[in-house]
Amino acid sequence: MDGTLLDGRVIYKIGQRFGFKSEIEKISKASRVPYLRSQEIAKLLKGLAVSEFTGIVRAIPLMNGAAQTVKQLKDKNYKVGIISDSYTLATEITARRLEMDFHAANRLEVKNGVFTGRLKMPLGWERIGCSCKQSVCKRYHLIRLAKKFDVELSNTVAVGDSNADLCMIETAGIGILFNPVQDNAPQNVKHTVRGKDLQLVLSFC
Ligand SMILES: [Zn+2]
Repeated sequence: MDGTLLDGRVIYKIGQRFGFKSEIEKISKASRVPYLRSQEIAKLLKGLAVSEFTGIVRAIPLMNGAAQTVKQLKDKNYKVGIISDSYTLATEITARRLEMDFHAANRLEVKNGVFTGRLKMPLGWERIGCSCKQSVCKRYHLIRLAKKFDVELSNTVAVGDSNADLCMIETAGIGILFNPVQDNAPQNVKHTVRGKDLQLVLSFC
């Protein structure tokens, strides 16, 4: 979602607005296991009102071509959705904006309309032996959702922009890196797209 469907990253927009962007950057660069970093970042949201969070998410512009790309894929009978290590509150808004079929992400615990700082992580890597150790193993959720929609893995397309997406991109029938954040993209990723228009991925579908 971040950097692919949305032209921006939810957690950085929130951090910018509430003055903890540098803390997020510090945690992101720390050499900890990825899902522990997600837990640390969620703690920064403690005390923040859900309504403030959703207001910021709604204001993030869609990536150029995102709506057209989703529509074209749906016209070809693809099931289209989001697997993200962001938060369900954000993926739900984005999935609804784009009329998508599914979304999966971390869940932020809420009490009385305010975040507690605790995070419910779907994980998945521990079940399939994936080495990613992300809060959301995108490979696991790609496999799970393909099964749910009765789609062969060879008929799936995955688009992502970061190392957190690699286990999914390598597993999908067609895996595409879209404007990769890290410049050390591995060689076994066949397709890399550069340019700020999501419709560029349609040439592979
Ligand atoms: Zn994984």
